[in-house]
Amino acid sequence: MKKNPLPLPVQQYHIAPQSGTAFTIKKGQIIRVIDVEGGQVSDLFCFAEKERKECLSSGQTTDYNGKLFLSKGDILYSNRSNPMFTIIADQVGGHIMLYPPCSQKMFEKSYGVTEAHPNCLENLLTSLKGFAIEESQISIPLNLFMSIDISEQGKITIQPARSKAGDYIELRAEMDMIVAVTSCSAGTCNNFKWTPIDVEIYS
Ligand SMILES: [Zn+2]
Repeated sequence: MKKNPLPLPVQQYHIAPQSGTAFTIKKGQIIRVIDVEGGQVSDLFCFAEKERKECLSSGQTTDYNGKLFLSKGDILYSNRSNPMFTIIADQVGGHIMLYPPCSQKMFEKSYGVTEAHPNCLENLLTSLKGFAIEESQISIPLNLFMSIDISEQGKITIQPARSKAGDYIELRAEMDMIVAVTSCSAGTCNNFKWTPIDVEIYS
């Protein structure tokens, strides 16, 4: 899709398939997360820079927006009910904040994987090492580009991501934050094809 006219990014990150990155962002800056080749899920989790006990909250975000599927105009809230991000542009829609980051334990439990498997939890933790963030501080991230179907009985089925090459979402930071982003390593949601995610930051 055609990109919005924004000034040149002040920072860019290329996230290789099945990896992640972390960075700081200031209030008012905009982060654009781009699905480079299409069909790729990305987890985003964040902490208040000043107080790392304050982090993204699926519960508060679902409650205050009154919906499961997030898109332009919706606000992502912290566990202290403060706005962290506002979605200001979105070419895909239907983003969710429902699933924990995929993990070695998830691959073992759900798919019987016995060998080491790349996963978002490990990639978030590795990326956040420099910020002294531990596993217990990570909860449910924003599952960007992830696609699910919910039946009338409430059964959830994970679908391959419907985003196309170059599709993006833009989020405006509502506080100074530490942000971690992955290119997800799970199977079904990425249609078993793992591709990069680009992140651009604008002032
Ligand atoms: Zn993942």
